[in-house]
Amino acid sequence: MNLILLGAPGAGKGTQATKIADRYGLVHISTGDIFRANIKNGTKIGLLAKSYIDKGELVPDEVTCEIVKDRLTWEDCKKGYLLDGFPRNTFQADYLDKCAKIDAVVNINIDFSLLMDRLCGRRVCKECGESYHVSTLGGKTDCARCGGELYQRKDDNPETVKSRLDVYEAQTAPLIDYYTKKGLILNFTGTEAPAEVLFEEIKAKLDELK
Ligand code: AMP
Repeated sequence: MNLILLGAPGAGKGTQATKIADRYGLVHISTGDIFRANIKNGTKIGLLAKSYIDKGELVPDEVTCEIVKDRLTWEDCKKGYLLDGFPRNTFQADYLDKCAKIDAVVNINIDFSLLMDRLCGRRVCKECGESYHVSTLGGKTDCARCGGELYQRKDDNPETVKSRLDVYEAQTAPLIDYYTKKGLILNFTGTEAPAEVLFEEIKAKLDELK
């Protein structure tokens, strides 16, 4: 099963992605994680990506599409994959159409007014990528799941979040329509309810597909 996970920054894609990938044995491919790993390792791609990520803008399509196209040729993708954060505009979606067969698009809709606080208060585990909100951590700085150190992403600040949300509305949200027309969309509502509740709903729909 090859899936796309769609949703605004802060909608809870990362958390759901881990759960979905675990449950269905899929490879989790997050373009954001790929860029962050490149930045950490000081690669040429990392250097280029950083200048866009720090401003909340999209990394150029040529670079992003090439990375994804290559990643999809890896042996592990044969068991199925979950794309998280790609595609982010119609150019990327058209590109993907030519190199992949997608079975469904999981779209998490969310009230935009929740997102600024969610993102600016987000803390992420350096090891496993699990996210938390600072208001629930009670001062803890390590991950409840794996013990890894929690950190605040550099792009989780008010100014960058504002531009990421603008980019989402202008460029990524049209993909909901794009995939609805292709009959691939599965719609869900992300709320403040625990992530497990949303995951149960997603699981019920994906089990039907299998
Ligand atoms: P994310 O971790 O998905 O929130 O992505 C963090 C940042 O990485 C985004 O704000 C973009 O700057 C960049 N990025 C991630 N995925 C893409 C993509 N598909 N196309 C362009 N830029 C991307």
